[in-house]
Amino acid sequence: MLTTDSGFYPDLKEIVDLFEGGGALDVVHTSREENGVFFNRVQISDRTFETEDVCPYSTAVEKKRYYKRFAKLSLYKAISAVTGETMPWGALTGIRPVKLAYGQGEDRYSFLTDTMLVSPAKASLVMDIIEAQRGIYEVDGSNVDFFVGIPFCPTRCSYCSFVSSVIGKAKNLEEYVDALVREIAASRELFTKLRSVYVGGGTPISLPKTLLMRVLGALSVFQGVEYTVEAGRPDMMDKDVLALLKDSGVTRVCVNPQSFNDDTLRRIGRMHTAEQVEEGFRLARSFGFDINMDVIAGLPGEKPEDFAKTIARALALGPDNITVHTLCLKRGSELKESVDRLPAGAVAEMVDHARSELTRAGYSPYYLYRQKYMAGNLENTGYTLPGKICVYNVDVMEETASNIACGANAVSKRVFPKENRIERYGAPKDIASYIAKLPVIIEEKNKLFSGLDG
Ligand code: SF4
Repeated sequence: MLTTDSGFYPDLKEIVDLFEGGGALDVVHTSREENGVFFNRVQISDRTFETEDVCPYSTAVEKKRYYKRFAKLSLYKAISAVTGETMPWGALTGIRPVKLAYGQGEDRYSFLTDTMLVSPAKASLVMDIIEAQRGIYEVDGSNVDFFVGIPFCPTRCSYCSFVSSVIGKAKNLEEYVDALVREIAASRELFTKLRSVYVGGGTPISLPKTLLMRVLGALSVFQGVEYTVEAGRPDMMDKDVLALLKDSGVTRVCVNPQSFNDDTLRRIGRMHTAEQVEEGFRLARSFGFDINMDVIAGLPGEKPEDFAKTIARALALGPDNITVHTLCLKRGSELKESVDRLPAGAVAEMVDHARSELTRAGYSPYYLYRQKYMAGNLENTGYTLPGKICVYNVDVMEETASNIACGANAVSKRVFPKENRIERYGAPKDIASYIAKLPVIIEEKNKLFSGLDG
């Protein structure tokens, strides 16, 4: 159990939860600040740990930031000393370590390793990503990426925690597409500096073709930029749908194996085989698309050697991007309660293997994010062949551009780089509420993005 007088209970609980069995510890935390000196005291059973950190601040926001940072660090150090465990990302719990590192200027490596106790391997991964993003990373709030959410899939993967419905059971598909097309049309005048278009949120190509055509038609005005569609499931891909994507200006598709092990695919509720992934990949290549493949380390029942086979088969295909995810079991996923977690060390071995094999094959890590409840407290990393970075992923992860998002559960973001702040507007998750609320959504987004080009 954790008690704290700091007012940062949720943040400190995240630190406790990093550790296997952390929740079983009795942790008492107290803190105070005097003239830029932050005092923290942590008691665990009969052991007491005290830290004193000096950090002058000039604003209340800065003070709060340091207060929280030193409280988290003191707790991390104390629990680490008691359990003998260290974490790959040290006391970092946020989802954007690369963005955080950018904010530290030239001292970013030592900030990660010395201040936040990140392992040298993970800190150098961050540095490699910053290097790879050179020429793509551009802080400009009037830059825009455009997202369209189609939250339907042919079946539900057992690890899924997205708000995605099985398409065969969806009752209001046509009404949804009507609303989406109206929202896209209403968004066109909000910006001029478009960086990329991304259609995802599920498996967009599972829409009946006539409806998919209407969505792509509404997006046809956005030409000449990187344009990704999550083709996702290879069992949904055929010549007609790929030709439709090509004719609509799509430049990049995701063909996601997750695993090249058929037993695993069955276990996680994917209705396709590894061979279908390869066929889908070759078909998509024949249309000239750039291709991303998602794989997942730590899937139930998989050992490091199974994952190594997945990496080898993905590499044999040579996609432009490979995104290595670490299994993340959030509330809402069917697997959450039923799965026997692999030991953290085995998942770390998989992730390390992927990094060394992909690097050896000429891929570089180019974006990264973390989530709560990730196996081994690891990360998701996107790798790219030279010159094939996905701009959308960089902009979204580093929050350097505004994001105009359409559809149910879509979250639009206006980035104000000079003021170091972001404003968000989230549409309702539920399809029926989204359709009913569309006029309000359009009005709220008009307000959020007013003057974007000014
Ligand atoms: S394809 Fe993606 S969004 Fe669809 S069910 Fe599987 S994990 Fe969820």
